[in-house]
Amino acid sequence: MSTRATLYVHAPFCRAKCQYCAFYSLAAGPSGPQPHSLSRYLDALDAEMDRQAERYGPVSAPSLFFGGGTPSLLGGEALARVMVGLRRRFDLAPDAEITLEANPDSASPSFLRTARELGVNRLSLGVQSLDDAALKTLGRTHDAAQARLAFAHARAAGFANIGLDLIFGLPGQSAAAWLDTLRQALALEPEHLSCYGLTVEPGTPLAENADALAACPDEDSQAEMFLRGSELLAAAGFEHYEISNFARVSAGQDLRCRHNVSCWRGEDVLGFGPAAVSTMTESGFAPALRWANPQSLEEWVELVHSGQSGQAGREALSPEVRAREGLMLALRSAEGLSLDAYARSAGRELRETHAGLLVQLSAVGLATLDGERLRLTRAGMLVSNSVIRALGFEDEINNYS
Ligand code: SF4
Repeated sequence: MSTRATLYVHAPFCRAKCQYCAFYSLAAGPSGPQPHSLSRYLDALDAEMDRQAERYGPVSAPSLFFGGGTPSLLGGEALARVMVGLRRRFDLAPDAEITLEANPDSASPSFLRTARELGVNRLSLGVQSLDDAALKTLGRTHDAAQARLAFAHARAAGFANIGLDLIFGLPGQSAAAWLDTLRQALALEPEHLSCYGLTVEPGTPLAENADALAACPDEDSQAEMFLRGSELLAAAGFEHYEISNFARVSAGQDLRCRHNVSCWRGEDVLGFGPAAVSTMTESGFAPALRWANPQSLEEWVELVHSGQSGQAGREALSPEVRAREGLMLALRSAEGLSLDAYARSAGRELRETHAGLLVQLSAVGLATLDGERLRLTRAGMLVSNSVIRALGFEDEINNYS
């Protein structure tokens, strides 16, 4: 039986670094990556795909995700080369969900048409805000009009599944302004929305911007934005399927992001490119392996060409560690946690070790216990880190927050 895993490709180039960004990406300037950097990246991707195909065979993939960075900055020709390379080495399912993250100012009609022709069938558009002043504060290289235009171009190119990424809790933003942004986003009729609270990551320019920090809404205001925003999206027919993610409920169609759902369920993922993280269960070995590619284009290229792809930052994950991670990820999703499955894999019965806490969580409306399934309510999601800590999982919070 062939190995099954979702595939991930990290595209490391952006036009400029956003003020809040802590992801690995390189500021490549307005016209995107220089031909030399792009070809080094593409050559190394080919070599990494060869290495992993040798190791795992023609992995059967139900989904593929191009993340970044800004994958839409790769351009049609490079995307075609990567798609051909992946299809040649791996068994991408005929109905695979293929997502590409795009920024409004690099999602040109011709790129979008090419992406569709190459089989990309889901677009995740990095809109972040529909307020030009906020976009400027965030250091985004597009404005609200470009975001709307990119959405229209994506529809015209044939994308029937478009997600918008938005951020709330921006400097100077009120709950009313956030709800207004959501209404404007809904007017575009997207299939999916990802709504993240702004986090100020150490080392980013935002962390050094005292004026912006002073204008950030406090915790209570952020909580109000989360709760009222979630209610508004539920009323508009969206399923709140993970703390930050909402999919339109559509008859006969599951519009949740397959790649993310797969990661949250702890399924295997095979990643390519700098900063990509992989988790693979090797047949015949109990522990799954996880490795993180270097967060440097140069180091990653060197590693791949020395035949060491997948060797850096490698760790074996014991079944117990996987069960603990699984608990944390499950509690953040609407699917919730199967207490039976957790007891089987971790050898730890939460209904015995934390019986009082489970009763208390239900009593105060933070969780529901439906049979053997524990689910956080909307209010519970808001304090999910505290709940997960109370269940005894401090390390997981530190690793995943
Ligand atoms: S576009 Fe995304 S990855 Fe690039 S700098 Fe901005 S937030 Fe970071």
